[in-house]
Amino acid sequence: MTNRQIVIAELPEDALRPEHFRLTETDVPDPGAGEVQLRVILMSIDAANRSWMRGATYRAAVKTGDAMPTYAICEVTKSNSDRLAVGDIVAAEATWSDYITLPAHKAQKLPKVPQLSHLMSVYGIAGKTAYHGLISIGRPMAGETVIVSAAAGSVGGYVGQIARALGCRVVGIAGGAEKCRWVQEELGFDACVDYRAGGLSRALAEACPDGADVYFDNVGGKVLESALNVMNERGRVVCCGAVSQYDTDAPAGPRNLPGAIVVKRLRMEGFIVMDFARDDDKCLRAMRHWVERGQIKVTEDIVEGLENAPQALIGLLAGENKGKRMVRVAADPN
Ligand code: NAP
Repeated sequence: MTNRQIVIAELPEDALRPEHFRLTETDVPDPGAGEVQLRVILMSIDAANRSWMRGATYRAAVKTGDAMPTYAICEVTKSNSDRLAVGDIVAAEATWSDYITLPAHKAQKLPKVPQLSHLMSVYGIAGKTAYHGLISIGRPMAGETVIVSAAAGSVGGYVGQIARALGCRVVGIAGGAEKCRWVQEELGFDACVDYRAGGLSRALAEACPDGADVYFDNVGGKVLESALNVMNERGRVVCCGAVSQYDTDAPAGPRNLPGAIVVKRLRMEGFIVMDFARDDDKCLRAMRHWVERGQIKVTEDIVEGLENAPQALIGLLAGENKGKRMVRVAADPN
């Protein structure tokens, strides 16, 4: 049996392209003492994957020759540990591969649910990032206006839906008229502004007649600059990510920093989802409640086949996806 694996052929200097990756085939690895062999089922495709190729972030940099790292949901296929049994479903730091091995203590056992993809979208990294960032850093109150960028993406879509469930007025920012329509009609946002159409500051001012109290920033750069222009005094800016800066050799920061922060007494704070792991149970209970009441729609964008992972990431950075993008490597076990 062979194990397919996608490695970095060459690190990108500007936009990511298929030739930056190479598909290799090796034998399926056997687990050592205390290790497990995992069959990869679903791989998370994240904007952050591209930032890992630029240098060290909250994790080590990815280098040429490395198998591309990913967060994955896997099935235990062999076990040399008492911690995990064959057939268990786990989450793990994996690679773009059919099979991996790792020490059993590095895999986190997951509940068996009817649809594993939900553990990656609404009850996984996307839902948790949206919930923790909005609740713990944005601290929105009913009646306030919340703006969120990459609004049709996985994190942004949940941020807006949570804010609506809390009684806020929600304005999205997304690329293209069709996506903006989808964000309003499908996700129930009050308004959505197309940042590709030009005149973003003016369009945001029109969409936020009372200004904005919270801005959940997924993109950084010029979009952040425009959002700062419509913030109210003592507003909160949640710095979740900067996808506009990951896939370019010419990053461009907002020009109104720190001026806008000073004049408007804004609070701007970054976070990494793991910072709030202690509140994960509370998050999952809240998300389940909103999903069951129909206040949050689960949006997923699943690309079939390990070999399509490079294009899935390139497409995500180009704004192809609606909802949580992931790659299915193998079918959910029965
Ligand atoms: P996503 O939002 O599902 O997809 C990325 C979206 O970004 C694309 O669909 C695209 O939508 C938009 N985009 C791409 N280039 C852009 C640009 N130049 N300007 C504005 N928008 C652009 O991806 P995700 O993986 O969920 O990540 C969203 C953000 O959350 C990223 O910044 C990521 O780093 C961050 N994140 C942070 C944490 C944390 O712990 N802090 C955890 C997970 C994710 P359009 O068509 O609208 O352009």
